Amino acid sequence: MTSTQNNKLLGLGLISGGLDSLLASQIIKLQNIEVVGLNFKSPFCTCDKAYKNSDCGLNLYHEKLGIKTFFLQKEDDYLEIVRNPKFGYGKNINPCIDCRIYILKKAKVFAKKINADFIFTGEVLNQRPKSQNLKALKIVEEESGLTGKLLRPLSALLLKPTIYEEQGLIDRSRLLGIRGRSRSIQLELARKYNLLNEYFACGGCLLTDASFSSRMVDYLLYNKNPKMDDMTYLKYGRHFRYKNSKIIVGRNEVENKILLQIKGPHDFVLQAKDVVGPTTIVQGPANDEIIQFAAKLTLSYSDLKESQGTVVYSNSKSNSSNLIVVKKENKELFKVHIL
Ligand code: SF4
Repeated sequence: MTSTQNNKLLGLGLISGGLDSLLASQIIKLQNIEVVGLNFKSPFCTCDKAYKNSDCGLNLYHEKLGIKTFFLQKEDDYLEIVRNPKFGYGKNINPCIDCRIYILKKAKVFAKKINADFIFTGEVLNQRPKSQNLKALKIVEEESGLTGKLLRPLSALLLKPTIYEEQGLIDRSRLLGIRGRSRSIQLELARKYNLLNEYFACGGCLLTDASFSSRMVDYLLYNKNPKMDDMTYLKYGRHFRYKNSKIIVGRNEVENKILLQIKGPHDFVLQAKDVVGPTTIVQGPANDEIIQFAAKLTLSYSDLKESQGTVVYSNSKSNSSNLIVVKKENKELFKVHIL
């Protein structure tokens, strides 16, 4: 057992920025244990939408509890887990049990680096039917190599004691026995400790989104070495798969600009001529037939009233060229639309 300079126990908390991990940290701190936070970043996190100015609520940890937080990225190896999770998917392509195992394995290495004495999470028994039931919590603990060593302060009284509780290093009587989806107890406690007044949901994940999942399935099918960097463009535009090529059509001005910024060096860019319309990019092998198809898509989503018009296309190796094409029928678009 190691300890901090003040001879305090040091706990490493996995924190999402949500209410549960905030409260779990407070419960641990109340035992005069020092806490350091660890947050995992990934392109799948949608928290920023809800917490534009608060970095996903993570500032609360520092402001309210004085907790220093470290950040780690989920890396390319995470995508192999998304492709083939040992414990299956949730409703969409979210591999929640494997995802927990992945981050806990990384947290274990990190804990060693900073000499943390134990790891804890804000998990609550039965809060999520598939990934947080008793069996799932046990699997996560075992598979991450933390059997008997993973503390869940919010539900500890409903779980087998950890070795730290058994050794008397952590006072089990001051841990909680919360279960289920309702956050009423957590909110009551958060108010009591003056942590916050309103419930806030955090930890939104694109892998639980049906539309993003379809894009992800398609991406993994066509990419043997998936890269986290590629996840950015899966977030924007309408996606079409045509003859092994991916065609992405911007849905608005913001997306058009983003697509131009993130396009690869070999991607073709298409825009309808003299009319407001989308920016389209073509990824992967592109022959005349594919460019023709992408041009028709581009015209179909433009403001052009007539059915026939001109589309300009180019890539970094070629000068701009014009193509005169006819718009696609809706039913033809659906056949190749990924979502
Ligand atoms: S919702 Fe997403 S981030 Fe959360 S456990 Fe599941 S896969 Fe991981």
